[in-house]
Parts: sequence; C-alpha cells; structure tokens
Amino acid sequence: PMLETGWNLDNSYARLPKSFFTKITPNAVPSPELVIFNDTLATNLGLNNVELKSKDGVAVLAGNSIPEGSIPLAQAYAGHQFGNFNMLGDGRALLIGEQIPPSGDRFDIQLKGSGPTPYSRNGDGRAALGPMLREYIISEAMHALGIPTTRSLAVVTTGESIIRETELPGAILTRVAASHLRVGTFQYAANFGTIEDVRTLADYTIERHYPHIADDENRYLSLLQEVIKRQAELIAKWQLVGFIHGVMNTDNMTISGETIDYGPCAFMDAYNPATVFSSIDYQGRYAYGNQPYIGGWNLARFAETLLPLLDDDQNEAIKMATEAIGEFNKFYHENWYAGMRAKLGIFNEEKEDEKLIEDLLNMMQNHSADYTNTFRALTLDKLEETALFNSEEFKLWNELWQARLKRQQESKDDTLQLMRNSNPAIIPRNHRVEVALESAVENGDYSVMEKLLEVLSKPYAHTQEQMDFCTVPAEIDQSYRTYCGT
Ligand code: AMP
Ligand code: MG
Ligand code: MG
Repeated sequence: PMLETGWNLDNSYARLPKSFFTKITPNAVPSPELVIFNDTLATNLGLNNVELKSKDGVAVLAGNSIPEGSIPLAQAYAGHQFGNFNMLGDGRALLIGEQIPPSGDRFDIQLKGSGPTPYSRNGDGRAALGPMLREYIISEAMHALGIPTTRSLAVVTTGESIIRETELPGAILTRVAASHLRVGTFQYAANFGTIEDVRTLADYTIERHYPHIADDENRYLSLLQEVIKRQAELIAKWQLVGFIHGVMNTDNMTISGETIDYGPCAFMDAYNPATVFSSIDYQGRYAYGNQPYIGGWNLARFAETLLPLLDDDQNEAIKMATEAIGEFNKFYHENWYAGMRAKLGIFNEEKEDEKLIEDLLNMMQNHSADYTNTFRALTLDKLEETALFNSEEFKLWNELWQARLKRQQESKDDTLQLMRNSNPAIIPRNHRVEVALESAVENGDYSVMEKLLEVLSKPYAHTQEQMDFCTVPAEIDQSYRTYCGT
C-alpha cells in the first residue's frame, strides 16, 4: 500500500509518556468534499496526489479513514493566553502521524477541525470553511515569502453545518508542520508532569529539531539558546514583511521556529506599530510593534520550564536562563537590522544606517504610508507612487539614501536585485483575501482563491501582471477585524 498512497507514517510522539497525549479517532463526517489541494506540497511529502484526491484519499483528509501506520492522537499542552496560564491541548485537531518522505525528513500531519477531544473544553472541536481557507491562503503566502511556517496540504468540507453566530459550513484543514511542539508543550510537562517528563520532552525535541547540540556540554542550555535564535529570526522576518500574528500566546509559539496558528493574523497596510486586527486584543498586547517584546516574554516562559535541567544549583540555572533570554533582543535586532538594510539595497553596515531606517519608518507612520508599497516604490524607483513623495523631509531622506548607496562597492544592478529579493510586491491583502473567501464560501467558486494563491506564490517576481494585486483600496477598512477559534 505504501507505493500506492505514499503514506509512510511514523508515530514518535505516541512513544512519549502517556500523559502527553490522548489517542483518539477523528469524528466521521457525512459527506467530505475536497475543495483545495496543494499538489506541490503533496509531492514534496512523497504522497501520491492522484490517490489522495480520490474518494479513498479524501476520506483520510476528512478523518473518515485512517491511513496505514497512523496512530491518531490529540496533544496535551498548556499556555499563557494573553498572559493568563491555562491547561489547553488540541481542542479541535488530531495528529494522524509523522510522514517520512523519501528525503528522510519528518512532518507532522494534523487534521484541524476533526471533532472534539478531551481537551476541547467548551468548544465543539470543529472549524468553519472560511477560516480554514484563510489559514490555507496565509500560511502558503508566508511560505512563498520565505518565512518558516506550518503548511497547508488540503481543505475538505464536511457536509455538516457548525454553529457560530450563524450556521456555517464545516471544514477540515490538513496542516503540515516540522512538529507541533510548542512552548506550551514544555509548560504542560513542567506544570503537570515530572522533571523527568520535561527531560524526556527536551531530549525528544533535541533529537528531532536540534540534533547538532545533542553532545553539547549542557544540551538543555543549548536547546534554550537555539530556540531563542530561531524565534528571533522568525519574528524579525514577520516584522520585515508587516505580518501581525495576532495571538502570540505561548501555546502558539513553536519550538521549531515555524509560524503556527493562523487565526487572527493579518498584514499591516499603513505603517503603524500600534496596528491590531484581532477582535479580542483590546489592549493591543499583540500589536505589530509589540511582537518582538512578546516573543522575548514567551521565551522566558520556555526558559522557566527548563530551569531544573539547566543546573542542579537553581541560582546558577536562573543566571544561565536570564543570560540566554537577554540575548534574544540582540539576535532579534541583528536579524531585523540586516533585513532592513537589505530592503534598502544596502550590503555593508555603516553606523548611520540605523537612523536612515528609523527616519524612513517615522515618515511612513506620519504620512500613513502603506508599508509594503513604500518599499516596493523604492525598489522599482516609482517614488511618485509613495505617500511620502511630496514631502520635503522625504526629498532630503532620499538624497541621503542615494548617497549611502553610492558609498558601497556593489553595482546598481546588485543593489536593485537585493531590493527586489527583499521587498515583496505581493502580500495577502485583507480585501483580496476576503473577496476570495466570500466567493468560495458563498458561491462555491474557488477560482478567485486559486488565482490569489498563484499570485501569492511569487511575491518577489515584480511582474506587470501582478500589479492589480498591489493596490490598496482608497479607503482602508479601519474596522477590519480578525477572529480566533472560528
Ligand atoms: P487558539 O486560540 O487557536 O490557540 O486555541 C486555543 C485553544 O482552544 C486550543 O486548545 C484549541 O485547540 C482550542 N480551540 C479553539 N477552537 C476550538 C473549538 N472550536 N473547539 C474546541 N477547541 C477549540
Ligand atoms: Mg492555537
Ligand atoms: Mg487557532
């Protein structure tokens, strides 16, 4: 059967202590229908696309049948939600196994929206079609932007209605991840398990994601440092493209350094660090400009779970952890700063570069300039298209920037190439995403979404054909809101 379907599943997570998960079969759904499928990803996973899209294959994506080798389970985890600690776990998701393609890599295959689990609390365990398609679009866009992320393999409708404020069509998303290990997984082990549980989890994590540190003198300190580095890189990448995650709870922060949980996320239009889209983020805790700070806060929660492993002397352990966490800001800033210089076509580093960047961002904020399109205009030398163009301060800034570019060795062409590769023209703009979802959910017409996915797959191409997708509505919808758990 392996040759026919391509499923080649292992279940290393199921070999961890029993308290880490609950084995459970997904809910059967009445009439599954495949509405979107990721052919490229399926191929990379070593799966047989034709078979997966057949009736038998779709039954697997709907949770109606279990592929050979699968041990479906819901993972236990805890987490700080908006700063408050809770016991959580997969409330509407099941890990069906770890797919091992011929490359030998290992990918979690998870069904999201597959019915209640022991961790569902008051939820129904289900998901609505619109939000699952939204996750599909944005996660695939993130991947194309070069940002580590969970991927989307498929969405199937279930034939069931689910009850939210109104009745909505139910759906299941197949999510693919390097793993679903979260800061919250460690918090679960540390708070509800034993020190040996934390050690088991840490060893498992090292073997799976950071094998090169396995023989380090203090491998648990190395683990902390590695995760801090990966998250600093990740959050810098978010900031550089204007991505707002929206719900950076500790259970939504991976240990692998992939972006996870596309609920209330959205891309910023006009540059403003205070930008928030999430309907429940009243305090702006997860605002764009706060993301690096929250990243550090979450990693401090991760560090706390490792304290017993870091050193027998807990004062020593706290010292080590504090020092490691202190590095986060440095790593974050290095990554962000390098990325910003690249966005401006700057190869080397000069002391004044930081001010050049800050001045530009300040101008963008003062003039409500669109973040993506400002960098795009600088890249394509279409300065007249920026909201800044007529201001005196921008003219001065532009002179300084041009002088800065002249001071480096690299040719104009090299500079241009660097900028093109660093400044996406195409991001999943809210109005575009909404139109695609409406067309799919209301009319069953997926052509708008397919077209959007195609354009989003080449964000750095800067082709004429993509131009329409760069425009911002004349009146930005200031009331645009995003939602969790729908
Ligand atoms: P999130 O805000 O997406 O990180 O979800 C937080 C927790 O709520 C996780 O344990 C989810 O699995 C759970 N959850 C979200 N939506 C539902 C739902 N409809 N039914 C059950 N659990 C849910
Ligand atoms: Mg979550
Ligand atoms: Mg979620």
